[in-house]
Amino acid sequence: MSTDVSTLDLEEAGAVLAAESARFASFGWMRGTSGNLSVVLSRDPLRLAVTASGHDKGELTPADVVLVDERGDAVSGGRPSAEAALHARVAALTGAGAVVHVHTVASVALGRRSPGGIVLSDLEMLKGVGVPAHGVEVTLPVIANSQDMTVLGDRLEAARDVRMPAVVVAGHGLYVWGDSPRQARHHTEVVEWLLELELTGTGR
Ligand SMILES: [Zn+2]
Repeated sequence: MSTDVSTLDLEEAGAVLAAESARFASFGWMRGTSGNLSVVLSRDPLRLAVTASGHDKGELTPADVVLVDERGDAVSGGRPSAEAALHARVAALTGAGAVVHVHTVASVALGRRSPGGIVLSDLEMLKGVGVPAHGVEVTLPVIANSQDMTVLGDRLEAARDVRMPAVVVAGHGLYVWGDSPRQARHHTEVVEWLLELELTGTGR
């Protein structure tokens, strides 16, 4: 994955994340104050802009953003979600430039139905995450939930399929990543589409 790092400052990053959040909230993927988005602002040392905790994700302003370090601890800004630590772990592990975390019905339903992972193949839409549409089987990993972000990060690292820029957290939601907020958005929409198809029971 690209090692390019965003040239955005924190407020510009906040504006990008607010727009992305509003889009996902409009889809019903960030209900209540759930979910969070991040963009990498610096690679060494690792610094991410993460949406601030406790806000309605359809109503974020450019100021509703926190700068966090490689452990997900605030460097400046307000209070980050505890989940910021997993965003930082994903960025460090995968080289991603942006991470999306949403609480979708399809991810929770499929995580419950397929706790060993969700097998996908022979779907044109797989091209949207860089997987061939035919003849290749990939597994979208499902990991058990935890309130301990180190435990959750260890599970994500162990279960990750390098061909899939996403992991389902059972009983919780979905983490998806990409080189940029735009690519992370496209990956999120494609993965959610694949999950929704599986949910219909006609995917394979
Ligand atoms: Zn969550």
